[in-house]
Amino acid sequence: MPIATQIKPRLAAFAVIRAMFEEGRRLRERFGETGVYDFSLGNPDAPPPESFRRRLAELAAEPGLDHGYAPVAGLPEARAAVAERLGAEQGLPVPAETVVMTVGASGALNVLLRVLCDPGDELVVPAPYFVGYENYAFLAGARLVPAATDGRFHLDPAAIASALGPKTRAVLINSPNNPSGAVYGAAELAALGSVLEEASRRLGRRIYLLADEPYRAITYGAAPAPVFPAYAHSILVNSFSKDPGLAGERLGYLAVHPGAEDAAQIAEAAAAVNSMMVVHAPAFFQRAMARARGIGVDVAHYRKRRDLLCEVLASAGYAFVPPEGAFYVFPQAPMADDRRFAELLRAERILVSPGSAFGVPGHFRLSFAVPEATIRGAAEGLRRARAAALREAGRPGG
Ligand code: PLP
Repeated sequence: MPIATQIKPRLAAFAVIRAMFEEGRRLRERFGETGVYDFSLGNPDAPPPESFRRRLAELAAEPGLDHGYAPVAGLPEARAAVAERLGAEQGLPVPAETVVMTVGASGALNVLLRVLCDPGDELVVPAPYFVGYENYAFLAGARLVPAATDGRFHLDPAAIASALGPKTRAVLINSPNNPSGAVYGAAELAALGSVLEEASRRLGRRIYLLADEPYRAITYGAAPAPVFPAYAHSILVNSFSKDPGLAGERLGYLAVHPGAEDAAQIAEAAAAVNSMMVVHAPAFFQRAMARARGIGVDVAHYRKRRDLLCEVLASAGYAFVPPEGAFYVFPQAPMADDRRFAELLRAERILVSPGSAFGVPGHFRLSFAVPEATIRGAAEGLRRARAAALREAGRPGG
C-alpha cells in the first residue's frame, strides 16, 4: 500500500471515526433524517446574520474585486480588524504585526505546533480535549500529554504543573471547552500563568501557552477571562467557524502576545509556515470579515437547545456538569465502557461520541447544534439506553 508508515497509525484512528459516520449514514438511509438523533457533530447550526449575507453579495458584486494571491500573513485590513477586536477583548493593545490569518483555528494550531515543536517535544493538554489536537500534535512530531482537570472540568494548575517537564514546549487550553463546556475564569488562568512562569524558569526553557478559543462568544454565564493578562507568553487562536457560524469558509487567526518571548519571530515564522502549508487564508472571506465588524452568533439559539438538552438528560437520570459555554454536554456514561454505551445509544438511533476519544473514558459527548426536535425525539431512547447500560453493568435500579 503506498501509504507512508508514519501516517498509518493515525489513519487507523480516523477509520474508527469514519465507521461511526458511515453507521450514521446507514441509519439515516433506513429510518430517514428525522428517525435518527445525531448528536455527534460539532457543525454550528445557527446561521450567520442576514446582514452579513447581504455584505457578501455586495462584496462579490464589487467591480475589480481582486481574486489574486494575498499576503501570506493575511490582508492588512483583516489583520487590523482582528487586532482591534483583540485589543478590546484582552484589555491591552494588540499590534496587527503579531496577527496571522489562517485556515480556521485548526490551520492556526497546525502552523503553531510546526513553528514551536521539535520532534519529541511535548504539548500538555487538560483533559477532556478536542480530538483534533492528537492529529495536530502527531503531524508536528510532538507528543500530547494529558493533564487531569477538576470535578467540574476546570483547570487544575497542580495537575498541569506535574505534567510539565524538560520536553514541554507548550500548554494548550480551550475555553469554552469542547467537549466539557467549561469556561475558564481569571483566577484559574492566573494560577496557570504562575505555574508556567515558575516551570519555564526551573526548566530553563520557555513554555508557551496556546489558547484555542473558537467558542469564545458562545457562553451561558460569565465570558471567558482574557488569557493575555494572565501570562505574557501566550498565543491566541480563534476562528469564524462557530461564531458567526462560517465553519465551511475556513477562516481563522492566531495572535501572539506582543510581550511574549520572541513574539516577532514566532509571528514571522507562523506566516512563513502558513505559506508553506496553504499559501494563505481565503482572501474573499478576509475582506468580508474586515468589513463586517461586530457581527456575531445568536447565542440564544444555542441557549435554548442547551436548556432543553440539560432538562432531557436530567430527567433521564444522567449525571453531568451543565455547560458554561460552547455547544456540547459531556455526561457520565452509566457504565465504565463508554464505547459500549455509545453502541447501546446507537441501538436507539442516537449518535454520540464516546468520552475516550477526548481522553476521558466513562463519559460521552452530545453536541446540541441540532434541531430542538432531535433533542425532544431522543428523550425516550436516552432513558432506555441508560436502563440497558445499568442492567449490563449489574445495577438495574441505577
Ligand atoms: N478547536 C476546537 C476546540 C474545535 O472544537 C474545533 C472544531 O470543532 C476546532 C478547533 C477547529 O475549528 P476550525 O473550523 O476553526 O478549524
